[in-house]
Amino acid sequence: MRLVPAVFLLAATSAYAQAPLPNPAPPPDPEGIAQHDLNRTPPTVVKPVEGVPPATPGKPPSDAVVLFDGKDLSAWKSQGKDAAAPWKVESGYFEVVKGTGGIETKQSFGDVQLHIEWMSPSPAVGTSQDRGNSGVFFGAGKYEVQVLDSYEAKTYPDGQAGALYGQFPPLVNPTRPPGEWQAYDIVFEMPRFDASGALVKRARATVFLNGVLVQNAKELIGPTTNKVRTPYSAHPASLPLSLQDHNHPVRFRNVWVRELK
Ligand code: MG
Repeated sequence: MRLVPAVFLLAATSAYAQAPLPNPAPPPDPEGIAQHDLNRTPPTVVKPVEGVPPATPGKPPSDAVVLFDGKDLSAWKSQGKDAAAPWKVESGYFEVVKGTGGIETKQSFGDVQLHIEWMSPSPAVGTSQDRGNSGVFFGAGKYEVQVLDSYEAKTYPDGQAGALYGQFPPLVNPTRPPGEWQAYDIVFEMPRFDASGALVKRARATVFLNGVLVQNAKELIGPTTNKVRTPYSAHPASLPLSLQDHNHPVRFRNVWVRELK
């Protein structure tokens, strides 16, 4: 029989041994704190940057893909369906229509800088998660930056505005009152998987809320699921962005994105 050179065998074996499992177990709780813990210390309330967002939306940078300029939802469609986005467009903004489902961009995106302004309903209705809830999602609904009325309103910190839902509370709480526009500026890097479907790089998010840093290059432990920890599973590096219908008439305006090459 032919002898396989030992060095080749060794290299092949170690490469195989080092490959991460394609379907890892559910990730452990970050910092050892249970998901949706109502009793963990809530983020400190801080006053946001004055004038962010401005009363009249500023103009996007010249290389941005404009996803909503105040006029129509032509860049969006009904999530997971081949149908027009069913939400209400008013003068300069659009609004979730309860029960119609989420909307997603027609275009797919990889790593991005996203700007989006949102407003929770005034007067505020409901408590905790049932209060001005929506969400900005990356990766076709897998990774959520929470949208919630978190102004003088209690919920579990890993589910308040600025949270990477169910994983990381915001560093501080710079939310404005319901009925006022609020701004997210988000840098989101998609996770990467190798040809076998194994995770090679986690998703990463940096989030500013009303000009204040609330997530500093946080690595997500997996998809941002509710009441369960879910491991990563392979998907394309470029997917639609989406917004959540959580049965609340949350408004959005001035939405633009820059793909990071
Ligand atoms: Mg939400």
